[in-house]
Amino acid sequence: MLKSNTVTCSFCGAGKANVSLMVSGSEGHICNECIVQAYDILMQENQPKKKELPKLNLMKPLEMKRYLDQYIIGQDKAKKVISVAVYNHYKRLLQNAKEDTDDISLEKSNIILTGETGTGKTLIARTLAKVLEVPFCIADATVLTEAGYVGEDVETVLSRLLQAADYHVELAERGIVYIDEIDKIARKSDNPSISRDVSGEGVQQGLLKLLEGTTVHVPPQGGRKHPDQQLITVNTENILFICGGAFEGLDRKIAARLNTRPLGFVGTLQNFGKNADVNKENLLQHVTPQDLKSYGLIPELVGRLPVLCHLDPLDRNALKSILTEPKNAIIKQYRKLFEMEKVKLQVTEDALEMIVDRAMELKVGARGLRSICESIMTDAMYELPSHPEIKEFVLDKPYIEKQLIKERQLTYLRAA
Ligand code: ADP
Repeated sequence: MLKSNTVTCSFCGAGKANVSLMVSGSEGHICNECIVQAYDILMQENQPKKKELPKLNLMKPLEMKRYLDQYIIGQDKAKKVISVAVYNHYKRLLQNAKEDTDDISLEKSNIILTGETGTGKTLIARTLAKVLEVPFCIADATVLTEAGYVGEDVETVLSRLLQAADYHVELAERGIVYIDEIDKIARKSDNPSISRDVSGEGVQQGLLKLLEGTTVHVPPQGGRKHPDQQLITVNTENILFICGGAFEGLDRKIAARLNTRPLGFVGTLQNFGKNADVNKENLLQHVTPQDLKSYGLIPELVGRLPVLCHLDPLDRNALKSILTEPKNAIIKQYRKLFEMEKVKLQVTEDALEMIVDRAMELKVGARGLRSICESIMTDAMYELPSHPEIKEFVLDKPYIEKQLIKERQLTYLRAA
């Protein structure tokens, strides 16, 4: 047994008499000073390591458009405009990083996409983020409200982006945010002073700050901010915002604008009443920032979304191509699922036509294709795994008709 006057710290060798505290273990001792030092080392080791920022996978506009072509059918003009805007956006970001000495600073070009539901607005934004390998999130403008009101604060948009970036702030700061249904927060009335418009103009003002580029304190898990919460600071200067909306009724605003113009579209307008459908499509291609303002977006917000592009409604041919052509087309996915069961899936032309017919009836663009296919294929996917002797499955018109009759009977039974 050690005598107290021979007790020394096993780390620094100090004697018990020279330190204020000595802790004894079974084989040795540690003094208070060494405990403090060891604690510091421990804390340093536990600090989250600064993650490396991965290199930006910047493609040239032409390559970017070619990449988009593999996933998105049609929408050629939109894909081109967006490829250029995105290329310039990230070039600007690289320039900022280099700190150029001349005084020309490139401004941010956020994007606004108009077009019916299911035409590929979200798909384009998502595909871009994938090719650039930057974090991506989707936010719905309709759930946002002005700070202090029931609903989500505008900052929660960034919480999602942070989550997508695995809380790597620098990575999130060059991500892409897609804000859906931007048309739903249009100002309800032309006179903003009538009443508070907390889910309309108030949200537009909030979004404006994010779009302009500002420093925001974001609650990491989303939801409402509360006083004791730890907040993460995010700078939105290099975040690319892509807004999308169907802007129903926008054609009327465009028509009204064109009507005031003596030149250019007189011929179209003369036919407008007679052949409204054809002209409606034509009119939407001519959307300008001014039309968005008259729709109810505040001028400042429109000014912060300088790249404006319209997505065409998808016709029968486009829907048919969407079923089979994109890299991860729906039919290709089913083929793969069937292959896993060692079954060869054949889809006939008239079967494709029938699926497209149904989708056209639903009027939700390409959005309906998957649910239609699911309801047609459920029975086959239920039965086939238990029948290993079946090596081939043909999806043809009679099979779909049978499935649709079944579905109608079910709906009828449910309603009865
Ligand atoms: P929205 O225009 O309403 O944002 P989405 O981009 O969400 O429409 O489209 C819904 C789905 O429809 C997509 O996930 C995709 O499968 C399909 N889709 C829509 N448009 C296209 C298109 N142009 N090319 C290929 N698939 C498309």
